[in-house]
Amino acid sequence: MKTRLLTNKCRIKPNKQQEDFLLSQLENCDFVYNNLYKQYQQDLKEDLENHIVATYKNEYFYKHLEKLIEENPKLKTTNKHVLVDVYHRLLQSINAKNNVLTDTTDKHILRSFKIPKYDFQIINSYFHHNNQRFKLRNFRKFDGKILHAIISYKRYEWHISIVYAINVKQLPKTGKAIGIDLGIDHFATLSDGRTIDMPDIEYYNDKIRNCYHKINQTIPGSQNNKRLKIQLQKNFTKKVNIKENFLHQLSMELVREYDIICVEMLEIQDILVNSNVPNKNILENDWQKFIRMLDYKSEFYMKDLVHIDRYFPSSKRCNVCGYMHQNMPLSVRTWECPSCHTKHNRDVNAAKNILNEGLRSINKH
Ligand SMILES: [Zn+2]
Repeated sequence: MKTRLLTNKCRIKPNKQQEDFLLSQLENCDFVYNNLYKQYQQDLKEDLENHIVATYKNEYFYKHLEKLIEENPKLKTTNKHVLVDVYHRLLQSINAKNNVLTDTTDKHILRSFKIPKYDFQIINSYFHHNNQRFKLRNFRKFDGKILHAIISYKRYEWHISIVYAINVKQLPKTGKAIGIDLGIDHFATLSDGRTIDMPDIEYYNDKIRNCYHKINQTIPGSQNNKRLKIQLQKNFTKKVNIKENFLHQLSMELVREYDIICVEMLEIQDILVNSNVPNKNILENDWQKFIRMLDYKSEFYMKDLVHIDRYFPSSKRCNVCGYMHQNMPLSVRTWECPSCHTKHNRDVNAAKNILNEGLRSINKH
């Protein structure tokens, strides 16, 4: 049986005392990371002949971590396994020859730390750790073997990601197939005629515009300026979260309901080039994100995702008789086929063509 690692990521809102605790944990991790790296670089230079440091990195770091803890009692407030994980991350960067982050102007280099599974408990959507209790927002119950948790701090928000392993289960086969046309009027039009729209995020767009406007009127570096920048980030994050939730839910729903999902890949770009849509990049980004989600979810649940190639004329062809229009400007939303007289909604007709083409290409193999 295959297993797969999944992450259940939840927002937490620590109170002041809890936040101080979490920040102190991050600081300890940074401290260890920085000090071990500096020490390593120095010892490496002096060890050019013997290569002992470079050969026995793991032992080397463990020994120095113990020394660091001995010399710095503040580190004892952090679980030793958390600190061991810090040098594992450092080792990974060194082995991968990545640039090791040592920029001390950035207050939190690591931004996250890993808690071993014996050091926390989840009871009724509360995360218990170090005699503290954190409410997990949007916590979804899951079946699986818990491996560890990661607490992260980004853009003034805290999250806990619980990493667990599950045995892959197949979703029941439904025998159904669907074509999807991604578009501008509606986020998606399905070949069964359904249309699906993005949730309304204008509220946050307004707030974001408002923040920019106000920031321009403040002095850079002033208290007001800082406060507004935090507000701006928060609104951005909210907007992104709403969209991500929507994309996750929609992709999961489709994968659950259909065995074969056909989607057109790149005519999207042609549409964008030829239209006056504002925020083209954002729209394109959402589409690509959505297709990526469909991709890995259908693979995970053993469903088929069929990408239709970009030159397939999904909008110009009548899905009933195959009549081909020479020209089909974007402004044409409905049309009647001159050959078989079927009345078409442009997007539904395109989605049906995408479905037919997808099924045809599967049968060819
Ligand atoms: Zn026709």
